[in-house]
Amino acid sequence: MLKIFNSATKKKEKFQVKKNKCMNLYVCGVTVYDLCHVGHARTFIFFDIVVRYFKFLDYKVFYVRNITDIDDKIIQCAKKFKQSIKKYSTRMIKEMKKDLNSLNLLLPTKEPLITEYIFEIIFMIQKLLNKKIAYISENGDVLFKISKFKDYGKFSQCFSNLFNKNFLQKIPVFFQKKNIDFVLWKLQKKKKNEKEIFWNSPWGLGRPGWHIECSAINYKFFPDGADIHGGGIDLLFPHHENERAQSISFQKNSCAYFWVHVGMIIFNNSKMSKSLKNIVTIRYLRKYYTVDVLKYYLLSTHYRRPLNFLEKNLISSKNIMNRIYSVLNLYNFSKVSFKIIFIEQKKFINLFMKALENDFNTPKACSILYKLSKYIKSLYGKNFFLEKYLVFTLLYLGNFLGIFLKFSFKKSLNIFQNCLDSKYYIKNLLKLRNKYRKNKQWDLADDIREKLYKLKIFINDSKFDSEYFF
Ligand SMILES: [Zn+2]
Repeated sequence: MLKIFNSATKKKEKFQVKKNKCMNLYVCGVTVYDLCHVGHARTFIFFDIVVRYFKFLDYKVFYVRNITDIDDKIIQCAKKFKQSIKKYSTRMIKEMKKDLNSLNLLLPTKEPLITEYIFEIIFMIQKLLNKKIAYISENGDVLFKISKFKDYGKFSQCFSNLFNKNFLQKIPVFFQKKNIDFVLWKLQKKKKNEKEIFWNSPWGLGRPGWHIECSAINYKFFPDGADIHGGGIDLLFPHHENERAQSISFQKNSCAYFWVHVGMIIFNNSKMSKSLKNIVTIRYLRKYYTVDVLKYYLLSTHYRRPLNFLEKNLISSKNIMNRIYSVLNLYNFSKVSFKIIFIEQKKFINLFMKALENDFNTPKACSILYKLSKYIKSLYGKNFFLEKYLVFTLLYLGNFLGIFLKFSFKKSLNIFQNCLDSKYYIKNLLKLRNKYRKNKQWDLADDIREKLYKLKIFINDSKFDSEYFF
């Protein structure tokens, strides 16, 4: 049973989708004002694993990742480059896609541009105005009145580290006193400037605030709320606090129940920022490291923990990956057709799946891949049949993490399902033992008898075949 840490309840909880075998995922995407960096890579690689995990389990995954293509920073950068906003954002979207493609990520089902959903945004703001949860301020902006959302601030608990527990109860009061209502619609202030983009609305020319975009797009694709709403931890406050307040105020059930946040990347205890000149772009990383090394490195820290970025650790991941590849290169695994399951495979698969089921514990999953490669190496030349199957398992499990994707191999059997089906597993183990017996490979046949014995399964050998009983 999969358990995920839910930022909304601050607990690890059993995860269940709302609709049978359908997983709806919304991840806050990139604001395209600059090149994507290692923080983006970490977040999107993690959600790529979430998608792969559910796909492997035969779920239909609907994955929406928005692109913010209008924003103050984009306008500033476009001005700096003396380009129109549209031209600049189009160019940066191309660059973003180039970078994310270089990470071998599965494409989202939908990648909506904010500027194509202005109608939906206006519709949502209007409804919030009708409900008197939003109001038009003196300067013409439409603002969300946080005092109308009684739990405002509780979701992110953004100040929980600074104050004692009693303060958590007082967070909503704190915010209401502060009067920090946030913008839903920004009215055009200056004279019409050709270089800026504005849309018509019932409240005059303007453009949407950042938070309302995600609420409106979420409602468009998932009117009953997505199963998981995710993003980087830096979005928890104010972005997700505000999104949640808007969505619930708009329509109670239009908000996700599970909120999942990926930890920050830090450098020597400081945040990644332009002013500190410590931004590491995906482009830089891909120039010096393969995608498998990069993924292995990022996934070796649990997604919720802050990751202290150190190039020396990246190099040690590179060394581990080289060792795993040196094992893989010993085999020609493309022709394996997967008909039986060995006890060793089952052991590794179970450990691996348990790690992922425990709030996507990828550091453990990565270490299992490495252990498996070392185990294969220790077997080298001893049992070619088993070795090949284990190599296949290594690749297969690696694929869960989006690693070893360059190896194309035929999945002739759903290894995972069959591994969970113990009857199937025992039957196949027995078949394999019979095969060994027919070939007079008595040692190998005895090995299996012993393994089955440990599982409290006893074998009754007849002249031609074996039967088993519990
Ligand atoms: Zn968002």
